[in-house]
Amino acid sequence: MFENLSDRLGGVFGKLTRQGALTDDDIATALREVRVALLEADVSLPVARNFVKSVTEKARGQAVTKSVTPGQQVVKIVHDELVHVLAGEGKSPELRIDNPPAPVLMVGLQGSGKTTTTAKLAKRLKDREGKRVLMASLDTRRPAAMEQLAVLGTQVGVDTLPIVPGQTPVQIANRAKQQATLGGYDVVMLDTAGRLHIDDELMAEVEAVRDAAKPRETLLVVDGLTGQDAVNVAEQFDGRVGISGVVLTRMDGDGRGGAALSMRAVTGKPIRFVGLGEKMDALEEFHPERIAGRILGMGDIVSLVEKARETLEAEQAERMMKRFQKGQFNMNDLKGQLEQMIKMGGMSGLMGMMPGMQKMSKQLDEAGLDDRMLRRQIALIDSMTKKERRNPDLLQASRKKRIAAGAGLEVSDLNKLLKMHRQMADVMKKMGGMGKKGLLRGGLG
Ligand code: GDP
Repeated sequence: MFENLSDRLGGVFGKLTRQGALTDDDIATALREVRVALLEADVSLPVARNFVKSVTEKARGQAVTKSVTPGQQVVKIVHDELVHVLAGEGKSPELRIDNPPAPVLMVGLQGSGKTTTTAKLAKRLKDREGKRVLMASLDTRRPAAMEQLAVLGTQVGVDTLPIVPGQTPVQIANRAKQQATLGGYDVVMLDTAGRLHIDDELMAEVEAVRDAAKPRETLLVVDGLTGQDAVNVAEQFDGRVGISGVVLTRMDGDGRGGAALSMRAVTGKPIRFVGLGEKMDALEEFHPERIAGRILGMGDIVSLVEKARETLEAEQAERMMKRFQKGQFNMNDLKGQLEQMIKMGGMSGLMGMMPGMQKMSKQLDEAGLDDRMLRRQIALIDSMTKKERRNPDLLQASRKKRIAAGAGLEVSDLNKLLKMHRQMADVMKKMGGMGKKGLLRGGLG
């Protein structure tokens, strides 16, 4: 599905070999291709549209490094955004299987790989977490499916509930729970019946089983090769039965993850595992990075840009240190520091490494310099003219009002920022005098 994406991007980015900042034209051209490729890969239109919008915003105004082309830089941004969309907000939670016997309901269409995945997951829980697992097939209409689970159970060394002909799925579910309690099992996995298509009868049956079993996890198994269909299936199952996570199978196939991309964005449900083959150990935890890598197929470029960016940051840091050593510290330097703080998640950045600044950085941290506040301060600096940034003493009352208004803030906010700058500049000046003695060098190593 996604072969096209690498090809298309390769073609476009090949042309973007000029050095220099990314122009809006560069970005627009490249992202038109990304959008077409996503749609061809069966990613839903709103997801593709949002994706492109978000990448565009991030690509604008990117600092450009000497050793990479604008095209390569876009690849990196696309990659990061893929990871972001795949991962959703926050990390995928662990399976909630702590209260034994924890029922895990496996649902999905016939042929999606549900039975195989049930056995794979049981094996995984047994091998990696030392859980005692009992599996039961509820597919009363297909005796072969029940047999299949029993065979797989023997193969992976996981118990299956003995088959009793004539029982309903709900009866089997109840018997499985009972058996799991009596037998001291940690987890009881219920492999529900599938159909070729979603129909009312199937949903009613799964609902009844759910009500009887009260599962801690309801995992939907879907075929990763089916793209948009997989997402529709997920939405329908979630609407009727409620699912807690998704397992995407056949991710070892030619498809390169279109379903994964839409799944998270459309359903909001975490992808828990991916199936990577028919073997019983071909089940992997879901790693957004890996899937993004596969979708894009441009791992080399991604790491190249990562390295180049590190170099650029080192160069910037060095330039800044040189200025500090000369006792120079204007609003641009302050902005650089604030940006650094946002990135480092606190004051542990450059400043934190310098003797004399550690105390102040601690004070700033304690003053509640959170991201939002840092961004506001940057907005204030951005509202100043170049001249004012180099020499904030020029600021008159009327300009202060304009600048504060420009950033949507009060003059008192601006005054606080100016005070902070003055204090820091003072420290820099003092330290500048000591620079020759090598005081500053120690900090950067
Ligand atoms: P069910 O009807 O949903 O229970 O599907 P099965 O578990 O019987 O699987 C159907 C077929 O898909 C079997 O031949 C499995 O070996 C195969 N299968 C399941 N998961 C994967 C996977 O992740 N990759 C590949 N290549 N094949 C898989």
